[in-house]
Amino acid sequence: MKRVVHWFRRDFRITDNTALSAAIAAAGSDGEVIPVYVASDWKGSHEWTGPARQEFLCGSLASLAKNLEAIGGRLIIRRGDAVAELEKLAGETGATAIFANRDPDPFGRSVEARLETMGAERGITVSLHKDACIHERDEALTGQGTVFRVFTPYSKVWFGLPKPMPGPAIRKLSTPSAPVSLPLPQLSDWGLSPAAAIPEPGERAARERLKAFVSGPIASYGDARDIPSVAGTSQLSQDLRFGLISPRQIYDAAKKVEEGLPPEGRKSIMKYLAEIVWREFYMQLLWHYPELLEQEFNSTWRGMEWPGLKGHPDAFERWCFGMTGFPIVDAAMRQLAATGWMHNRARMITAMFLTKDLHLDWRLGEAFFMRSLVDGEIASNNGGWQWSAGTGADAAPYFRIQNPWSQTKRYDPEGLYIRRWIPELKNVSNSSLLEAPSDGRPIAPGYPAPMLDHAAERDRTMELFARHKALGARS
Ligand SMILES: Cc1cc2nc3c(=O)[nH]c(=O)nc-3n(C[C@H](O)[C@H](O)[C@H](O)COP(=O)(O)OP(=O)(O)OC[C@H]3O[C@@H](n4cnc5c(N)ncnc54)[C@H](O)[C@@H]3O)c2cc1C
Repeated sequence: MKRVVHWFRRDFRITDNTALSAAIAAAGSDGEVIPVYVASDWKGSHEWTGPARQEFLCGSLASLAKNLEAIGGRLIIRRGDAVAELEKLAGETGATAIFANRDPDPFGRSVEARLETMGAERGITVSLHKDACIHERDEALTGQGTVFRVFTPYSKVWFGLPKPMPGPAIRKLSTPSAPVSLPLPQLSDWGLSPAAAIPEPGERAARERLKAFVSGPIASYGDARDIPSVAGTSQLSQDLRFGLISPRQIYDAAKKVEEGLPPEGRKSIMKYLAEIVWREFYMQLLWHYPELLEQEFNSTWRGMEWPGLKGHPDAFERWCFGMTGFPIVDAAMRQLAATGWMHNRARMITAMFLTKDLHLDWRLGEAFFMRSLVDGEIASNNGGWQWSAGTGADAAPYFRIQNPWSQTKRYDPEGLYIRRWIPELKNVSNSSLLEAPSDGRPIAPGYPAPMLDHAAERDRTMELFARHKALGARS
Protein backbone atom coordinates (compact mmCIF):
# COMPACT_ATOMS: atom_id res chain seq x y z
CA MET A 1 0.00 0.00 0.00
CA LYS A 2 1.33 3.42 -0.95
CA ARG A 3 1.66 6.17 1.64
CA VAL A 4 2.32 9.82 0.95
CA VAL A 5 2.52 12.94 3.11
CA HIS A 6 0.64 16.17 2.41
CA TRP A 7 2.32 19.06 4.17
CA PHE A 8 -0.18 21.87 4.94
CA ARG A 9 1.49 25.27 4.92
CA ARG A 10 -0.78 28.16 3.83
CA ASP A 11 -3.48 26.06 2.17
CA PHE A 12 -5.86 25.11 5.00
CA ARG A 13 -8.72 23.82 2.88
CA ILE A 14 -9.95 20.58 1.39
CA THR A 15 -11.62 22.12 -1.68
CA ASP A 16 -9.54 23.02 -4.74
CA ASN A 17 -6.29 22.18 -2.97
CA THR A 18 -3.82 21.37 -5.75
CA ALA A 19 -1.16 19.45 -3.83
CA LEU A 20 -3.65 17.62 -1.62
CA SER A 21 -5.55 16.41 -4.70
CA ALA A 22 -2.27 15.33 -6.29
CA ALA A 23 -1.27 13.49 -3.08
CA ILE A 24 -4.55 11.58 -3.04
CA ALA A 25 -4.19 10.68 -6.72
CA ALA A 26 -0.60 9.53 -6.15
CA ALA A 27 -1.57 7.36 -3.15
CA GLY A 28 -4.18 5.61 -5.30
CA SER A 29 -7.55 4.21 -4.24
CA ASP A 30 -6.12 1.85 -1.61
CA GLY A 31 -3.30 4.17 -0.49
CA GLU A 32 -3.04 6.45 2.54
CA VAL A 33 -2.36 10.16 2.89
CA ILE A 34 -0.77 11.65 6.01
CA PRO A 35 -1.83 15.30 6.30
CA VAL A 36 0.55 17.20 8.55
CA TYR A 37 1.09 20.71 9.82
CA VAL A 38 4.43 21.61 11.39
CA ALA A 39 4.04 24.43 13.90
CA SER A 40 6.98 26.75 14.38
CA ASP A 41 8.64 26.67 17.76
CA TRP A 42 9.60 30.29 18.30
CA LYS A 43 8.69 31.76 21.67
CA GLY A 44 8.02 35.28 22.87
CA SER A 45 8.27 38.33 20.66
CA HIS A 46 8.63 37.94 16.92
CA GLU A 47 9.41 40.84 14.62
CA TRP A 48 7.14 39.63 11.82
CA THR A 49 4.31 37.75 13.54
CA GLY A 50 1.76 38.71 16.17
CA PRO A 51 -1.32 37.45 18.01
CA ALA A 52 -4.02 38.31 15.43
CA ARG A 53 -2.51 36.20 12.68
CA GLN A 54 -1.45 33.37 15.01
CA GLU A 55 -4.95 33.21 16.52
CA PHE A 56 -6.48 33.05 13.05
CA LEU A 57 -3.99 30.32 12.16
CA CYS A 58 -4.92 28.26 15.26
CA GLY A 59 -8.65 28.59 14.54
CA SER A 60 -8.17 27.69 10.89
CA LEU A 61 -6.13 24.61 11.80
CA ALA A 62 -8.81 23.47 14.26
CA SER A 63 -11.39 23.84 11.52
CA LEU A 64 -9.17 22.01 9.01
CA ALA A 65 -8.72 19.13 11.50
CA LYS A 66 -12.54 18.77 11.76
CA ASN A 67 -12.96 18.93 7.99
CA LEU A 68 -10.35 16.20 7.52
CA GLU A 69 -12.02 14.02 10.16
CA ALA A 70 -15.34 14.41 8.39
CA ILE A 71 -13.86 12.77 5.27
CA GLY A 72 -12.06 10.00 7.17
CA GLY A 73 -8.64 11.63 7.64
CA ARG A 74 -6.67 12.90 10.63
CA LEU A 75 -4.48 16.00 10.83
CA ILE A 76 -1.09 15.26 12.36
CA ILE A 77 0.53 18.15 14.22
CA ARG A 78 4.27 18.32 14.72
CA ARG A 79 6.43 21.15 16.01
CA GLY A 80 9.90 22.38 15.12
CA ASP A 81 11.93 22.60 11.93
CA ALA A 82 9.62 21.61 9.06
CA VAL A 83 12.22 19.66 7.05
CA ALA A 84 13.46 17.66 10.06
CA GLU A 85 9.88 16.87 11.14
CA LEU A 86 8.81 15.82 7.63
CA GLU A 87 11.85 13.59 7.34
CA LYS A 88 10.98 11.96 10.66
CA LEU A 89 7.33 11.50 9.71
CA ALA A 90 8.20 9.94 6.35
CA GLY A 91 10.62 7.59 8.15
CA GLU A 92 8.00 6.59 10.77
CA THR A 93 5.25 5.90 8.24
CA GLY A 94 7.23 4.60 5.26
CA ALA A 95 5.84 7.43 3.10
CA THR A 96 7.53 7.56 -0.29
CA ALA A 97 6.54 11.09 -1.26
CA ILE A 98 5.88 14.50 0.27
CA PHE A 99 3.37 16.81 -1.42
CA ALA A 100 3.04 20.52 -0.72
CA ASN A 101 1.88 23.75 -2.30
CA ARG A 102 4.61 26.26 -3.02
CA ASP A 103 4.98 29.29 -0.77
CA PRO A 104 5.85 32.42 -2.75
CA ASP A 105 7.88 34.19 -0.07
CA PRO A 106 11.66 33.90 0.36
CA PHE A 107 11.51 32.04 3.68
CA GLY A 108 9.09 29.47 2.23
CA ARG A 109 11.36 29.05 -0.80
CA SER A 110 14.43 28.37 1.30
CA VAL A 111 12.55 25.66 3.25
CA GLU A 112 11.44 24.11 -0.06
CA ALA A 113 15.05 24.01 -1.28
CA ARG A 114 16.12 22.22 1.92
CA LEU A 115 13.17 19.82 1.62
CA GLU A 116 14.17 18.92 -1.94
CA THR A 117 17.75 18.25 -0.84
CA MET A 118 16.55 16.05 2.00
CA GLY A 119 14.19 14.20 -0.37
CA ALA A 120 16.97 13.58 -2.88
CA GLU A 121 19.27 12.24 -0.14
CA ARG A 122 16.57 10.00 1.39
CA GLY A 123 14.97 8.80 -1.84
CA ILE A 124 11.68 10.54 -1.00
CA THR A 125 9.86 12.24 -3.88
CA VAL A 126 9.16 15.89 -3.15
CA SER A 127 6.27 17.21 -5.22
CA LEU A 128 5.65 20.98 -5.04
CA HIS A 129 2.63 22.64 -6.67
CA LYS A 130 1.32 26.03 -7.73
CA ASP A 131 -1.68 26.90 -5.58
CA ALA A 132 -1.45 30.29 -3.84
CA CYS A 133 -1.74 32.21 -7.14
CA ILE A 134 -3.65 31.87 -10.38
CA HIS A 135 -0.49 32.74 -12.33
CA GLU A 136 2.90 32.14 -10.81
CA ARG A 137 6.17 34.03 -11.20
CA ASP A 138 7.11 32.79 -14.69
CA GLU A 139 3.71 32.95 -16.37
CA ALA A 140 2.92 36.63 -16.92
CA LEU A 141 6.13 37.91 -18.52
CA THR A 142 7.05 40.53 -21.12
CA GLY A 143 7.37 39.56 -24.79
CA GLN A 144 11.12 39.17 -24.16
CA GLY A 145 10.46 36.78 -21.29
CA THR A 146 11.52 39.24 -18.60
CA VAL A 147 9.73 40.24 -15.42
CA PHE A 148 7.27 43.14 -15.49
CA ARG A 149 8.25 45.90 -13.10
CA VAL A 150 5.10 47.93 -13.80
CA PHE A 151 1.56 46.84 -12.98
CA THR A 152 -0.60 47.81 -15.99
CA PRO A 153 1.19 45.79 -18.70
CA TYR A 154 1.57 42.91 -16.23
CA SER A 155 -2.16 42.91 -15.60
CA LYS A 156 -2.92 42.96 -19.35
CA VAL A 157 -0.87 39.81 -19.86
CA TRP A 158 -2.31 38.28 -16.67
CA PHE A 159 -5.92 38.80 -17.82
CA GLY A 160 -5.08 37.42 -21.27
CA LEU A 161 -3.85 34.05 -19.98
CA PRO A 162 -6.24 31.08 -19.85
CA LYS A 163 -7.59 30.57 -16.35
CA PRO A 164 -7.53 27.28 -14.46
CA MET A 165 -10.88 26.13 -13.07
CA PRO A 166 -11.15 25.44 -9.33
CA GLY A 167 -10.62 21.78 -8.46
CA PRO A 168 -13.15 19.59 -6.63
CA ALA A 169 -13.86 19.21 -2.92
CA ILE A 170 -12.15 16.14 -1.52
CA ARG A 171 -14.70 13.63 -0.25
CA LYS A 172 -12.56 10.82 1.15
CA LEU A 173 -9.17 10.54 2.77
CA SER A 174 -7.57 7.66 4.55
CA THR A 175 -4.85 8.34 7.14
CA PRO A 176 -2.89 5.60 8.94
CA SER A 177 -3.63 5.35 12.68
CA ALA A 178 -0.02 5.02 13.82
CA PRO A 179 1.58 8.48 13.54
CA VAL A 180 1.48 10.39 16.79
CA SER A 181 0.11 13.92 16.75
CA LEU A 182 0.74 16.77 19.15
CA PRO A 183 -2.38 18.69 20.26
CA LEU A 184 -3.61 21.46 17.96
CA PRO A 185 -1.51 24.60 18.49
CA GLN A 186 -2.83 27.25 20.88
CA LEU A 187 -1.97 30.92 20.91
CA SER A 188 -0.33 30.49 24.31
CA ASP A 189 2.20 28.04 22.76
CA TRP A 190 3.93 31.15 21.39
CA GLY A 191 3.52 33.09 24.63
CA LEU A 192 0.74 35.18 23.07
CA SER A 193 -2.81 36.04 24.12
CA PRO A 194 -5.78 37.24 22.03
CA ALA A 195 -5.44 40.89 21.12
CA ALA A 196 -8.04 41.67 18.46
CA ALA A 197 -11.57 40.81 17.34
CA ILE A 198 -10.50 38.79 14.30
CA PRO A 199 -12.85 37.33 11.65
CA GLU A 200 -14.17 33.81 12.12
CA PRO A 201 -11.45 31.40 10.98
CA GLY A 202 -11.96 28.28 8.85
CA GLU A 203 -12.82 27.22 5.33
CA ARG A 204 -16.61 27.40 5.79
CA ALA A 205 -16.48 30.96 7.19
CA ALA A 206 -14.25 32.05 4.28
CA ARG A 207 -16.62 30.52 1.74
CA GLU A 208 -19.53 32.34 3.38
CA ARG A 209 -17.65 35.64 3.19
CA LEU A 210 -17.04 35.06 -0.52
CA LYS A 211 -20.67 34.12 -1.08
CA ALA A 212 -21.93 37.22 0.76
CA PHE A 213 -19.59 39.46 -1.24
CA VAL A 214 -20.40 38.12 -4.69
CA SER A 215 -24.12 38.07 -4.00
CA GLY A 216 -24.25 41.88 -3.60
CA PRO A 217 -21.37 44.22 -2.66
CA ILE A 218 -19.13 43.14 -5.57
CA ALA A 219 -21.44 44.97 -8.01
CA SER A 220 -20.71 48.33 -6.36
CA TYR A 221 -17.10 47.61 -5.40
CA GLY A 222 -15.79 50.23 -7.84
CA ASP A 223 -17.39 53.06 -5.84
CA ALA A 224 -17.52 51.59 -2.35
CA ARG A 225 -13.97 50.21 -2.13
CA ASP A 226 -12.43 53.54 -1.15
CA ILE A 227 -14.81 54.46 1.66
CA PRO A 228 -13.40 53.10 4.91
CA SER A 229 -16.67 53.44 6.85
CA VAL A 230 -18.44 51.09 4.42
CA ALA A 231 -17.99 47.31 4.27
CA GLY A 232 -17.58 47.59 0.50
CA THR A 233 -14.62 45.23 0.05
CA SER A 234 -14.52 41.45 0.24
CA GLN A 235 -12.54 41.15 3.51
CA LEU A 236 -11.05 37.94 2.18
CA SER A 237 -7.39 38.88 2.63
CA GLN A 238 -6.82 36.69 5.71
CA ASP A 239 -8.58 33.83 3.90
CA LEU A 240 -6.27 34.17 0.90
CA ARG A 241 -3.30 34.47 3.25
CA PHE A 242 -4.06 31.10 4.88
CA GLY A 243 -5.52 29.46 1.80
CA LEU A 244 -9.01 29.02 3.26
CA ILE A 245 -10.18 30.03 -0.16
CA SER A 246 -8.16 29.88 -3.38
CA PRO A 247 -7.75 32.74 -5.86
CA ARG A 248 -9.24 30.38 -8.47
CA GLN A 249 -12.44 30.07 -6.42
CA ILE A 250 -12.61 33.86 -6.12
CA TYR A 251 -12.00 34.43 -9.84
CA ASP A 252 -14.56 31.83 -10.78
CA ALA A 253 -17.22 33.20 -8.37
CA ALA A 254 -16.67 36.77 -9.62
CA LYS A 255 -16.86 35.74 -13.28
CA LYS A 256 -20.09 33.81 -12.66
CA VAL A 257 -21.91 36.86 -11.30
CA GLU A 258 -20.42 39.19 -13.94
CA GLU A 259 -22.64 37.80 -16.67
CA GLY A 260 -25.88 39.09 -15.16
CA LEU A 261 -24.68 42.61 -14.33
CA PRO A 262 -25.13 45.98 -16.07
CA PRO A 263 -21.95 47.75 -17.38
CA GLU A 264 -21.23 49.54 -14.07
CA GLY A 265 -21.39 46.25 -12.20
CA ARG A 266 -19.09 44.59 -14.72
CA LYS A 267 -16.59 47.41 -14.29
CA SER A 268 -16.69 46.80 -10.55
CA ILE A 269 -15.89 43.13 -11.10
CA MET A 270 -12.90 44.03 -13.27
CA LYS A 271 -11.73 46.49 -10.61
CA TYR A 272 -12.07 43.76 -8.00
CA LEU A 273 -10.18 41.19 -10.05
CA ALA A 274 -7.45 43.78 -10.66
CA GLU A 275 -6.81 43.75 -6.90
CA ILE A 276 -6.31 39.99 -7.06
CA VAL A 277 -3.80 40.74 -9.81
CA TRP A 278 -1.97 43.28 -7.60
CA ARG A 279 -1.52 40.48 -5.08
CA GLU A 280 0.08 38.26 -7.72
CA PHE A 281 2.11 41.17 -9.15
CA TYR A 282 3.73 41.70 -5.75
CA MET A 283 4.24 37.96 -5.26
CA GLN A 284 6.07 37.57 -8.55
CA LEU A 285 8.17 40.67 -7.85
CA LEU A 286 9.24 39.32 -4.49
CA TRP A 287 10.03 35.96 -6.02
CA HIS A 288 12.31 37.52 -8.60
CA TYR A 289 13.67 40.25 -6.30
CA PRO A 290 13.85 38.85 -2.75
CA GLU A 291 16.14 41.76 -1.86
CA LEU A 292 12.94 43.88 -1.78
CA LEU A 293 12.60 42.90 1.85
CA GLU A 294 15.88 44.60 2.65
CA GLN A 295 16.09 47.54 0.31
CA GLU A 296 14.22 49.99 -1.88
CA PHE A 297 13.09 48.49 -5.19
CA ASN A 298 13.90 51.73 -7.02
CA SER A 299 17.69 52.01 -6.76
CA THR A 300 17.48 55.83 -6.85
CA TRP A 301 16.18 55.74 -3.28
CA ARG A 302 18.56 53.21 -1.75
CA GLY A 303 20.38 54.59 1.26
CA MET A 304 17.73 57.33 1.76
CA GLU A 305 17.86 59.12 5.06
CA TRP A 306 14.73 58.73 7.25
CA PRO A 307 15.59 61.15 10.03
CA GLY A 308 12.24 61.13 11.89
CA LEU A 309 10.14 64.10 12.99
CA LYS A 310 12.23 66.84 14.60
CA GLY A 311 11.59 67.14 18.35
CA HIS A 312 9.45 63.98 18.51
CA PRO A 313 11.40 60.92 19.62
CA ASP A 314 8.00 59.37 20.49
CA ALA A 315 6.61 59.80 16.94
CA PHE A 316 6.59 56.07 16.09
CA GLU A 317 4.82 55.13 19.34
CA ARG A 318 2.19 57.85 18.80
CA TRP A 319 1.56 56.51 15.29
CA CYS A 320 1.30 52.91 16.56
CA PHE A 321 -1.18 53.85 19.29
CA GLY A 322 -3.32 56.16 17.15
CA MET A 323 -2.40 59.35 19.03
CA THR A 324 -0.98 61.59 16.31
CA GLY A 325 -3.85 64.12 16.47
CA PHE A 326 -4.73 63.38 12.82
CA PRO A 327 -8.15 61.73 13.23
CA ILE A 328 -8.10 59.70 9.98
CA VAL A 329 -4.64 58.30 10.78
CA ASP A 330 -5.54 57.52 14.39
CA ALA A 331 -8.87 55.91 13.47
CA ALA A 332 -7.04 53.59 11.08
CA MET A 333 -4.37 52.61 13.60
CA ARG A 334 -7.06 51.91 16.19
CA GLN A 335 -9.03 49.80 13.71
CA LEU A 336 -5.85 47.78 13.19
CA ALA A 337 -5.32 47.32 16.94
CA ALA A 338 -8.97 46.37 17.53
CA THR A 339 -9.50 44.01 14.59
CA GLY A 340 -6.12 43.06 13.09
CA TRP A 341 -7.41 44.45 9.77
CA MET A 342 -7.30 47.90 8.22
CA HIS A 343 -9.12 49.25 5.19
CA ASN A 344 -6.89 49.62 2.10
CA ARG A 345 -7.43 53.40 1.79
CA ALA A 346 -6.51 53.74 5.46
CA ARG A 347 -3.38 51.58 4.95
CA MET A 348 -2.23 54.01 2.28
CA ILE A 349 -2.98 57.06 4.44
CA THR A 350 -1.19 55.70 7.52
CA ALA A 351 1.80 54.45 5.52
CA MET A 352 2.21 57.80 3.78
CA PHE A 353 1.89 59.58 7.09
CA LEU A 354 4.65 57.50 8.67
CA THR A 355 7.04 58.00 5.76
CA LYS A 356 6.18 61.50 4.50
CA ASP A 357 4.99 63.33 7.63
CA LEU A 358 6.98 61.55 10.34
CA HIS A 359 9.96 60.86 8.00
CA LEU A 360 10.35 57.39 9.47
CA ASP A 361 11.77 54.42 7.58
CA TRP A 362 9.08 52.40 5.77
CA ARG A 363 10.67 49.21 7.15
CA LEU A 364 9.51 50.19 10.67
CA GLY A 365 5.92 50.44 9.47
CA GLU A 366 6.23 47.30 7.38
CA ALA A 367 7.31 45.24 10.41
CA PHE A 368 4.63 46.80 12.66
CA PHE A 369 1.93 45.93 10.11
CA MET A 370 3.28 42.38 9.82
CA ARG A 371 3.05 41.98 13.62
CA SER A 372 -0.45 43.47 13.77
CA LEU A 373 -2.30 42.31 10.65
CA VAL A 374 -4.46 39.20 10.57
CA ASP A 375 -3.85 39.14 6.81
CA GLY A 376 -0.11 39.98 6.96
CA GLU A 377 1.22 38.85 3.58
CA ILE A 378 4.92 39.55 3.09
CA ALA A 379 4.72 40.40 -0.63
CA SER A 380 1.61 42.65 -0.50
CA ASN A 381 2.72 44.33 2.67
CA ASN A 382 6.16 45.11 1.29
CA GLY A 383 4.57 46.23 -1.98
CA GLY A 384 2.10 48.50 -0.16
CA TRP A 385 4.80 50.03 2.02
CA GLN A 386 7.22 50.63 -0.81
CA TRP A 387 4.39 52.05 -2.92
CA SER A 388 3.48 54.50 -0.15
CA ALA A 389 7.08 55.44 0.60
CA GLY A 390 7.60 56.16 -3.10
CA THR A 391 10.45 53.67 -3.32
CA GLY A 392 8.72 50.66 -4.88
CA ALA A 393 7.77 49.16 -8.22
CA ASP A 394 5.19 51.36 -9.91
CA ALA A 395 5.05 53.43 -6.71
CA ALA A 396 3.41 56.75 -5.97
CA PRO A 397 6.08 59.29 -7.07
CA TYR A 398 7.70 60.87 -4.00
CA PHE A 399 6.24 64.30 -4.75
CA ARG A 400 2.66 62.99 -4.77
CA ILE A 401 2.08 63.20 -1.05
CA GLN A 402 -1.38 62.54 0.31
CA ASN A 403 -2.73 65.24 2.60
CA PRO A 404 -4.51 63.51 5.51
CA TRP A 405 -7.05 66.35 5.77
CA SER A 406 -7.95 66.22 2.05
CA GLN A 407 -8.15 62.43 2.28
CA THR A 408 -10.66 62.81 5.13
CA LYS A 409 -12.75 65.30 3.13
CA ARG A 410 -12.80 62.92 0.20
CA TYR A 411 -13.25 59.54 1.84
CA ASP A 412 -14.79 60.18 5.27
CA PRO A 413 -16.51 63.58 4.95
CA GLU A 414 -19.04 62.84 7.68
CA GLY A 415 -16.48 61.40 10.05
CA LEU A 416 -18.30 58.04 10.26
CA TYR A 417 -15.09 56.02 10.17
CA ILE A 418 -13.30 58.39 12.53
CA ARG A 419 -16.04 58.37 15.15
CA ARG A 420 -16.37 54.59 14.99
CA TRP A 421 -12.76 54.11 16.08
CA ILE A 422 -12.06 57.21 18.19
CA PRO A 423 -14.71 57.46 20.93
CA GLU A 424 -13.15 60.71 22.24
CA LEU A 425 -14.35 62.36 18.99
CA LYS A 426 -17.95 61.10 19.12
CA ASN A 427 -19.40 64.53 19.88
CA VAL A 428 -17.18 66.91 17.92
CA SER A 429 -18.46 68.73 14.84
CA ASN A 430 -17.73 67.38 11.36
CA SER A 431 -15.82 70.47 10.34
CA SER A 432 -13.29 69.98 13.14
CA LEU A 433 -12.43 66.53 11.72
CA LEU A 434 -11.71 67.89 8.26
CA GLU A 435 -8.94 70.38 8.93
CA ALA A 436 -6.29 71.22 11.47
CA PRO A 437 -7.66 73.34 14.37
CA SER A 438 -6.79 76.96 13.62
CA ASP A 439 -5.75 77.60 17.24
CA GLY A 440 -3.66 74.41 17.35
CA ARG A 441 -5.57 73.24 20.46
CA PRO A 442 -7.05 69.75 21.08
CA ILE A 443 -10.58 69.34 19.69
CA ALA A 444 -11.78 67.02 22.46
CA PRO A 445 -10.68 66.09 25.98
CA GLY A 446 -8.25 63.16 25.98
CA TYR A 447 -7.45 63.54 22.27
CA PRO A 448 -4.20 65.28 21.25
CA ALA A 449 -3.78 68.29 18.98
CA PRO A 450 -2.13 67.45 15.62
CA MET A 451 1.52 66.66 16.35
CA LEU A 452 2.77 68.40 13.19
CA ASP A 453 1.94 70.81 10.40
CA HIS A 454 1.35 68.75 7.28
CA ALA A 455 2.40 71.49 4.83
CA ALA A 456 5.74 72.01 6.61
CA GLU A 457 6.52 68.28 6.74
CA ARG A 458 5.51 67.89 3.11
CA ASP A 459 8.14 70.48 2.20
CA ARG A 460 10.70 68.66 4.32
CA THR A 461 9.96 65.39 2.49
CA MET A 462 10.45 67.11 -0.87
CA GLU A 463 13.77 68.45 0.41
CA LEU A 464 14.94 65.06 1.73
CA PHE A 465 14.12 63.27 -1.53
CA ALA A 466 15.56 66.03 -3.71
CA ARG A 467 18.78 66.11 -1.66
CA HIS A 468 19.16 62.33 -1.90
CA LYS A 469 18.57 62.40 -5.64
CA ALA A 470 21.15 65.17 -6.11
CA LEU A 471 23.72 63.23 -4.05
CA GLY A 472 23.09 60.15 -6.20
CA ALA A 473 23.45 62.19 -9.40
CA ARG A 474 26.82 63.57 -8.19
CA SER A 475 28.27 60.23 -7.05
C1 LIG B 1 0.84 49.77 3.39
C2 LIG B 1 0.01 48.60 2.92
C3 LIG B 1 0.17 47.35 3.49
C4 LIG B 1 -0.58 46.26 3.04
N1 LIG B 1 -0.40 45.03 3.63
C5 LIG B 1 -1.10 43.97 3.18
C6 LIG B 1 -0.91 42.68 3.76
O1 LIG B 1 -0.08 42.48 4.64
N2 LIG B 1 -1.69 41.66 3.31
C7 LIG B 1 -2.61 41.83 2.30
O2 LIG B 1 -3.29 40.87 1.94
N3 LIG B 1 -2.77 43.02 1.72
C8 LIG B 1 -2.07 44.10 2.13
N4 LIG B 1 -2.28 45.32 1.56
C9 LIG B 1 -3.22 45.44 0.42
C10 LIG B 1 -4.68 45.75 0.80
O3 LIG B 1 -4.74 46.82 1.68
C11 LIG B 1 -5.41 44.55 1.41
O4 LIG B 1 -5.21 43.40 0.63
C12 LIG B 1 -6.92 44.81 1.51
O5 LIG B 1 -7.16 45.95 2.27
C13 LIG B 1 -7.58 43.60 2.12
O6 LIG B 1 -8.95 43.81 2.26
P1 LIG B 1 -10.00 43.05 1.33
O7 LIG B 1 -9.75 41.59 1.38
O8 LIG B 1 -11.34 43.53 1.75
O9 LIG B 1 -9.60 43.61 -0.09
P2 LIG B 1 -10.43 43.68 -1.45
O10 LIG B 1 -10.45 45.10 -1.84
O11 LIG B 1 -11.70 42.96 -1.35
O12 LIG B 1 -9.44 42.95 -2.47
C14 LIG B 1 -9.50 41.54 -2.72
C15 LIG B 1 -8.16 40.92 -2.50
O13 LIG B 1 -7.20 41.46 -3.40
C16 LIG B 1 -5.94 41.58 -2.75
N5 LIG B 1 -5.57 43.00 -2.71
C17 LIG B 1 -6.39 44.05 -2.58
N6 LIG B 1 -5.69 45.21 -2.64
C18 LIG B 1 -4.41 44.86 -2.78
C19 LIG B 1 -3.19 45.60 -2.90
N7 LIG B 1 -3.17 46.95 -2.90
N8 LIG B 1 -2.03 44.93 -3.00
C20 LIG B 1 -2.02 43.57 -3.03
N9 LIG B 1 -3.13 42.82 -2.94
C21 LIG B 1 -4.31 43.45 -2.81
C22 LIG B 1 -6.11 41.02 -1.36
O14 LIG B 1 -5.72 39.67 -1.38
C23 LIG B 1 -7.60 41.16 -1.11
O15 LIG B 1 -8.11 40.24 -0.21
C24 LIG B 1 -1.52 46.44 1.99
C25 LIG B 1 -1.68 47.71 1.42
C26 LIG B 1 -0.93 48.78 1.87
C27 LIG B 1 -1.13 50.13 1.25
